[in-house]
Amino acid sequence: MSESVDVAVIGAGPGGYVAAIRAAQLGLATAVIEREFVGGTCLNIGCIPSKALLDATHLLAQIRRASTFGIRTAGVEVDFAAMQAHKAKVVRMLTTGVRGLLRRHGVRLIEGSARFEGPHRLLIEPQEGAVERLEADNVIIATGSVEAELPGVPFDGGRIVSSRGALEFDAVPERLVVVGGGYIGLELGSVYARLGARVELGGLGRQEVRDDPDRAARTGCAELRQVRIVPAQDRETGPLDVLEMMDRLLPEMDRELAAAAAKFLGEQGLHLHLQTRVTGVEEGEGGDVVVLADGPDGPGRFSAERVLVSIGRRPATSELGLERVGIETDARGFIAVDHGMRTQVPGVYAIGDVVATPMLAHVAMDEGVVAAECIAGQSAAMEYDAVPAVVYTAPELASVGLREEDAELRGHRIKVGRFPFRGNGRARAKDEVEGWVKIIADADSDVILGVHCVGPEAGHLIHEAVVAMGYGGYAEDLALTSHAHPTLAEAFKEAALAVHGRPLHI
Ligand code: FAD
Repeated sequence: MSESVDVAVIGAGPGGYVAAIRAAQLGLATAVIEREFVGGTCLNIGCIPSKALLDATHLLAQIRRASTFGIRTAGVEVDFAAMQAHKAKVVRMLTTGVRGLLRRHGVRLIEGSARFEGPHRLLIEPQEGAVERLEADNVIIATGSVEAELPGVPFDGGRIVSSRGALEFDAVPERLVVVGGGYIGLELGSVYARLGARVELGGLGRQEVRDDPDRAARTGCAELRQVRIVPAQDRETGPLDVLEMMDRLLPEMDRELAAAAAKFLGEQGLHLHLQTRVTGVEEGEGGDVVVLADGPDGPGRFSAERVLVSIGRRPATSELGLERVGIETDARGFIAVDHGMRTQVPGVYAIGDVVATPMLAHVAMDEGVVAAECIAGQSAAMEYDAVPAVVYTAPELASVGLREEDAELRGHRIKVGRFPFRGNGRARAKDEVEGWVKIIADADSDVILGVHCVGPEAGHLIHEAVVAMGYGGYAEDLALTSHAHPTLAEAFKEAALAVHGRPLHI
């Protein structure tokens, strides 16, 4: 006899485990089924391990510049195995914590792979043991996404890897080619560059993959954004060869923000070669991989010990038996939902990376809460106007709301206030004056339309703007709000004052 629950959630990533907790809080008998790792991509092979390595290598970079603050250091060494062990410990603590949260909320965790037998009936295959069937009044699909592969550059689990493999390197590669100029490529490229690897970086941004996922397959090649990061010891030796055809990385971000990223990454030793097509890979000397590419200057060959392909992710929807329940996906595999995360089949919901909304952990969590509340009969709905996005380079990049180019395209008459961190006392104290805050407001109503920031702790600071926008705030609201002195957040107040042409410290 099969068990029956009110809600079955497929996948225990940030979307799925949060949906399960919220459903249980609302008094619904809930089970979550997970085939590989509780915590999903984010906690195991995504947000958390990447930030553990970014934080560790940022600390290393800070130690290297300690003399600026009158601190002499000597004998600084990197124990990469210990750094990886720290990362693994953080992942272990958090994933164990999620198991505890599920237990405390009375959510049943079933370890196995689930697929539909009918809209309200799941077949669950555990790694070992007998298959199980689960009846559920409601099912939430939260199966996330998997790495997209680049035709001609197949993953081989060793030398050509996805972000998952790059997070698990057992040693710092001497030369690393990163295919992909989106946030994952830039973040992991930064990690290994700080550790002294020579990194060549290029490829498709996620937006481009989503816009036309079949392009690479059709053409047998792909656009390459190529960034070369030279090791720290080479940086002082002379000018670097910078080839740049396009004026931006990170196609999803505000153009000015992306240009700022290209500038500071260039100063950190990255060489940008845009609109260059990867055509394949070859065996190189001494076990190296050679990445073949066609650029504006003709064909190029990039020899590497390891190649990281980070060209985007595709929804994990192909193995769920969706056809059995009448759920169609679009050409890219995304499931269509309404603002309550309902699919076209009553009682079946979809959240997180399987729906065509920003592929971000916090979006998945919010969508999970909305789905659970709709199931419980509440009138919840997702809003995407004030969703922040952060790139954890140094300095960080953070955005919320409309890009300047979008605001104009949508017909807004806009006014823009900017404030550079060099006018901020705390940034001076930290000796981190690179970057700025830009606030875009509607010229007629003063409503904040978008905020973009590059600078120290931009990823934390952006939330002031997120909250203001969540309440439909005006630029004047931020300008009139008291900000503690001396804090980096004062740059937001100043940018808001600048919208009205009256910044005080510039
Ligand atoms: P997932 O986290 O992918 O979880 C889905 C789960 O479902 C998985 O555990 C999977 O095993 C399970 N599953 C799949 N199929 C089945 C099945 N048939 N049966 C049972 N279980 C199944 N986002 C951010 O917001 N901030 C960041 O800093 C950030 N950094 C990232 C860095 C990297 C390197 C990567 C790869 C991603 C990063 N992301 C980041 C994106 C983020 O990880 C995802 O957006 C998020 O994990 C999506 O959550 P989800 O719950 O939809 O899916």
